[in-house]
Amino acid sequence: MSKILLNTGPSERGWHRVETAARCMQLFAYNYILEIGHGDRGPLVRGSIGHVGLAHHFARRRAQQQKTDPDVYYEPEEAMRLVAATFGELGEQYLPIATHAVLAYMNAYAGEQFEIVMVEEKVSGMIRWPEHLRVGARANVAYPITQRFDRVYKNTAGRFWIEDHKFVSTIKSSTAARYTLSGQFQLMQWFGRAIYGDSFGGARINLVQCSEKPKSVQVSLDAAPRMLNRFPQVVCDIEERIEALRAEGRDPWEYPAQANEHVCMTAYGRCPAFDICRWGKSGI
Ligand code: SF4
Repeated sequence: MSKILLNTGPSERGWHRVETAARCMQLFAYNYILEIGHGDRGPLVRGSIGHVGLAHHFARRRAQQQKTDPDVYYEPEEAMRLVAATFGELGEQYLPIATHAVLAYMNAYAGEQFEIVMVEEKVSGMIRWPEHLRVGARANVAYPITQRFDRVYKNTAGRFWIEDHKFVSTIKSSTAARYTLSGQFQLMQWFGRAIYGDSFGGARINLVQCSEKPKSVQVSLDAAPRMLNRFPQVVCDIEERIEALRAEGRDPWEYPAQANEHVCMTAYGRCPAFDICRWGKSGI
């Protein structure tokens, strides 16, 4: 019997695309039109392998809860090996780190009793301008948006929680606050409310530290009602800019560039397209 290897990749119209455009239109053009400028892929590869491990752990556990055969899915370690192989040398380098973190997580949460509802499932919808901005050409515009939920579970009180795994080098007291205003988590709450109504509990971050001594914590997102309320506008504003540049027929090498010390260089390091912006095509 061939087993299921779950897809944990980004969905095609997800937040990451919108976020990239919000950060810098030139970076958006590099990544999504020219398909270059993805920079240091190390943390991405580590996260991808880790996601696959947790996805197979939760899918197998859901099968056990539903009294179906968990062996239709790969074991987490086997799934991680298969996916790591697709990343070549980087995969080889990060496989032991991600595996160590995932196995520690599974051990730490072995007694968790939540009912697992979704694992790596994609949801999709349409986003429209808020009523007060639905004027002129905007009145009839709607943009598709998608998201892949890492896990949805129902707790013992009957509330549904949507969880996203974040594989990080170190969990600090400030790590969770990084996501308070993130559109990824605003979107999770929009979908959560639409799907589960009053039974929706909220969005949670599953922080997994990848280090010699791995650890993990599950935290709820801090409330940000103003940002949550205006989230459709945030998306529509960016989509409108993307569409205007596309309609203009702008050369992707000439998209608006931030050239901003706070954006080109961040707490995570240099923008992945730093050298391309510095040197042009010879920096690819
Ligand atoms: S280096 Fe700066 S200007 Fe260039 S793509 Fe990155 S953020 Fe934009």
